[in-house]
Amino acid sequence: MSALLEISGYRLAFDGFEGRAHVLDGIDLTVAEGETVGIVGETGCGKSVLARSVARLVDMPPGCVPGGGIRFAGQDVFAMDQRGLARLRGHGVAMIFQDPMTYLNPVFSIGSQMVDVIRAHDRAEGKPKRARAAARDAAAELLDAVRLPDPGRLLDRYPHELSGGMRQRVLIAMALTGTPRLLVADEPTTALDVTIQAQVLRLIAELVAARRLTLMLISHDLGVIGALCRRVVVMYAGTIVEDGAADVLFAAPRHPYTRGLLAAVPDLARPAHRARPIPGHIPNLLQPPPGCRFHPRCELAVGRCVAEKPPLRQVDGRLVACHRAEEAAA
Ligand code: SF4
Repeated sequence: MSALLEISGYRLAFDGFEGRAHVLDGIDLTVAEGETVGIVGETGCGKSVLARSVARLVDMPPGCVPGGGIRFAGQDVFAMDQRGLARLRGHGVAMIFQDPMTYLNPVFSIGSQMVDVIRAHDRAEGKPKRARAAARDAAAELLDAVRLPDPGRLLDRYPHELSGGMRQRVLIAMALTGTPRLLVADEPTTALDVTIQAQVLRLIAELVAARRLTLMLISHDLGVIGALCRRVVVMYAGTIVEDGAADVLFAAPRHPYTRGLLAAVPDLARPAHRARPIPGHIPNLLQPPPGCRFHPRCELAVGRCVAEKPPLRQVDGRLVACHRAEEAAA
């Protein structure tokens, strides 16, 4: 499979009142066309900012310091002009966000918003803009594809008239308007109750398979990642600490942080098994710990962990950034 997304040495730091926050620190990640990749880690570890960087959706105010590079389908996203970015967003990368109400405009009907998006994608592709009636038909087809009942009537309704699950399906339909190659779903079910969560996850899995999409799924929920993704990337404090096939990584994690994440999940089948939280907190990224950023919370930390940042290296069929990965397995 050819590489669709290549992130190399990507760093991001923001200057604020309190100093410079080192949000991402040397991310290396290659995603092949057709892969399903889950990115997991605690809140604040940099998952979302990494995902948004792929479509250059991160605000880069003065004082923002990026480094390294991101290429999509061989093209440098930081070298793209406005026209190139318009094509990238929609035709290359589409995003589904956590809270659809934030991304749907409350004062316009669903149909009006979808028609505008479809016509904007036509313009970005250099095609003649479809007439509004034709764009409305295309919008109804997409609502039907995400299993929303009575799409014709739904187009005339407003976001506040729909349930959370329906709004999320509308957002998924809008993400498909530009026929993207990479679908980035950032915590797409966090705001939904569990039964609706399962329906939306099943829908995403079906759409990814039917449309041969590449999927990057961001979540702090290992169950969600395990259900949809064949590969898992674990992030901690702006770095990738483990990257491998989901079945390999869940069965035998090699990074102490991945082991901690799995141990923190309650096992309802074994009530006697108590979930164990990882001690401590995500570090302050204004002054990240030197060496391995996980060392203040790691029970295996030694002097080398404070002095040297561990590189990502092959251990037991996956990549791990830990000086003591072999001992962590034991
Ligand atoms: Fe722990 Fe050291 Fe491995 Fe970091 S490098 S995870 S501190 S053992």
